[in-house]
Amino acid sequence: MNDHLSSWIQSGPICCNVAGLASEYLDDCLPMLTKVRVGFHLASCADCRTYMKQMALVCEAAAGLPKQYPSPINRLRLRQHFACCHSSSL
Ligand SMILES: [Zn+2]
Repeated sequence: MNDHLSSWIQSGPICCNVAGLASEYLDDCLPMLTKVRVGFHLASCADCRTYMKQMALVCEAAAGLPKQYPSPINRLRLRQHFACCHSSSL
């Protein structure tokens, strides 16, 4: 795992961490501890729950669509938007 991840393993993830892990979380690709941490954050953060729900919808929709969806640019834009909104809480 990356260094920036190990730093929040003790303190818990912040919103932009969760946003960055959303696709792995939905794909069930995260290590158990990381998954639990993200789950705890989601339980206490309505913004991230909304984000995760949107990502899940996009992923579900993508499963029934041709390969060019979802556009990586749109996902990146969402992610960057999210990081900007919440980076001040660092
Ligand atoms: Zn959050």
